[in-house]
Amino acid sequence: MKSITKKIIIVSISIVVLVVVFAWWHLATELNRNVPCAFCNPDVIKTGMFYEDDLVRGLCTYKPLQPWHCLVVVKRHVERFEEITDEECLAIGRLLKKINKVVQKINGPSSYLILQKNGCEVGQTVPHVHVHYVPKKVSDNKLAPFGLLWNFVWENFQRPLSKEKLAEYVGIMRVGIENQNLA
Ligand SMILES: [Zn+2]
Repeated sequence: MKSITKKIIIVSISIVVLVVVFAWWHLATELNRNVPCAFCNPDVIKTGMFYEDDLVRGLCTYKPLQPWHCLVVVKRHVERFEEITDEECLAIGRLLKKINKVVQKINGPSSYLILQKNGCEVGQTVPHVHVHYVPKKVSDNKLAPFGLLWNFVWENFQRPLSKEKLAEYVGIMRVGIENQNLA
């Protein structure tokens, strides 16, 4: 196949994937509008939390896009980034750096995505400020970025992690962060 045809096919598939992702995000936002806030739910906090200080929490997500996908969640229930204080902003950045150090150690050299959404038009489904940290192992596969895009679609259909697996991730992250704090 000529390389120009290959490129057209790849671009077309990418466009279709993006449209599906945004349509799903929009639908999920509408469905979640009247659901109680997940990040204020004590059960979610109890099962996923590996770090807590006065301002933020670190959680392992029960539906990871990639292994070691973590969330940094502001403790106060605020919906959008512009509502958080400078201190909370600093606490988010500080925890993201700690998480990255731990993940790079246990996951091996990884690229990583830091993502935070504000408003349903960009796919915010939980109206409580949270930042995603999504690592992806470094590889020679040129299609790796498309793989990550596909993860965004697949996430909506995949089964959540078992309680045991989530607890395992939480335990490893907790120890990693504690060790850093001791160092
Ligand atoms: Zn909340």
